[in-house]
Amino acid sequence: MTSIEIVRATVLDPIVGELAPDRTVLIDGDRIVAVLGPDDAPPAGFTATNQIDAAGRVVSPGFIDAHVHLLGYESDLGVPGKESPLYVAARAADLMTAMLRRGFTTVRDVGGADHGLVRAVEEGYLLGPRIFHGGPALSQTGGHGDFRSGGEVCAHQMSTVLPTIGLVCDGVPAVRQAVRNEIRRGARHIKLMLGGGIASPTDRIDSSQFSDEEIRAAVEEADNANIYVTGHAYTPRSIARALALGVRCIEHGTLMDDETARIFVKHNAFLVPTLAIGALLASEESTQFGVPEESRRKASQIRAAGTEMLRIARAHGVQTVFGTDFIGPMHQFQSREFAIRAEVLSALEILQSATVTAAKLLGQEEQLGRVANGYLADVLILNVDPLSDISALAEPERAIGTVISRGCVVQR
Ligand SMILES: [Zn+2]
Repeated sequence: MTSIEIVRATVLDPIVGELAPDRTVLIDGDRIVAVLGPDDAPPAGFTATNQIDAAGRVVSPGFIDAHVHLLGYESDLGVPGKESPLYVAARAADLMTAMLRRGFTTVRDVGGADHGLVRAVEEGYLLGPRIFHGGPALSQTGGHGDFRSGGEVCAHQMSTVLPTIGLVCDGVPAVRQAVRNEIRRGARHIKLMLGGGIASPTDRIDSSQFSDEEIRAAVEEADNANIYVTGHAYTPRSIARALALGVRCIEHGTLMDDETARIFVKHNAFLVPTLAIGALLASEESTQFGVPEESRRKASQIRAAGTEMLRIARAHGVQTVFGTDFIGPMHQFQSREFAIRAEVLSALEILQSATVTAAKLLGQEEQLGRVANGYLADVLILNVDPLSDISALAEPERAIGTVISRGCVVQR
């Protein structure tokens, strides 16, 4: 077991938005065991095997990205389901390591990652963030998780064996079985596709997906297993219905209005906006990354709505979490989400969304999202002060210095 002493640390507290100077952060194994002030004595018996001088830099909790697709190595999300699972895992490993180097020490996968990937990281065989997975996102036939084109009949989208980003299931018994199967494989949440989306070839953005009965069945099964359901939804109609039926978190929420925001607050639900990918998909820049014309057209339809949604969510006090949803070669721009949110939110609000509020969504607020005694040792040493310039985080090569994940220095 390694032990680390970070000296001359200026520690960021994302709860109050303050920097505490002259701290010493002690890490033993995978936990932070003390954050000492200048006059505090270290706990008896602690000796550091590794010392890091953080003078002039900012010590921050590792960031949490609550909307990723670790199998999304191609812009066409249907590809992984047609490939060798071993090849898919290798590509996922590459994406995971890159995310960790960008400072994302925890990710929530909302379609794709399975228990095998989670286990490989936990046991140290793959270098990557902590993963909170839900298996494939469940979708109705022709829904946002059905990546077959209209002319394609192959059955891989119905496979419960191959790793896929979406899994098609129709009717209450099939939905129950799919949810139970994901729970059997250790899902931390269940993701339902509840409306149209950008990356799916055959649905419309304004469509609502799954019946009330199917959503209710998924919520009941998840609730029985003490996990929650999160839903992909853009429109007020899909969002309002989902929240009323017990869905606890909404992904994207792009077209939400004031009335929808009130429903969020009433149900104490979470919102995970993903703005940067939408802006990129709608731009000319995305043509070079093999994004299909249909996806680009859909993204342009809702491009302007994203910032307005953030404004509405903020005005009503909706619990908002950091998420990105990047796909394919565009993953390199994952950290742009920090900059685009700064058009509406304060630096502290954005930092909270990527630390303490995200930890709350994951049910991990006692051990993730802060640099504090007893918390898990996921720690960044930043070359910038994110409270004074949050957009600097959009350039991780410059902004992210040292990355400590599970108590190990994975980047100096
Ligand atoms: Zn997504």
